[in-house]
Amino acid sequence: MDKCSICGATTRRRKVDLPTRVNNKFLVVKGVPAYVCVQCDEIYYDLKTARALEDVENRVERGRVQLQPIRNAYEVELAGA
Ligand SMILES: [Zn+2]
Repeated sequence: MDKCSICGATTRRRKVDLPTRVNNKFLVVKGVPAYVCVQCDEIYYDLKTARALEDVENRVERGRVQLQPIRNAYEVELAGA
């Protein structure tokens, strides 16, 4: 993903923390490699990352990931899952 499909600006590869929901819990997946638009902050993932995210969500759903509780949410490292 070289160009943002919304505004057409360039994107930069960087790691982001992605908030999501699993089993009605707020979950923050840390260290997700993404492409972020320099202008509008839209976030894009490649297919490999999208699959890794699905995988970590599935594991959390089945209680197979050690979650780090922070306030009313949980943190999980994408790489460590
Ligand atoms: Zn953009």
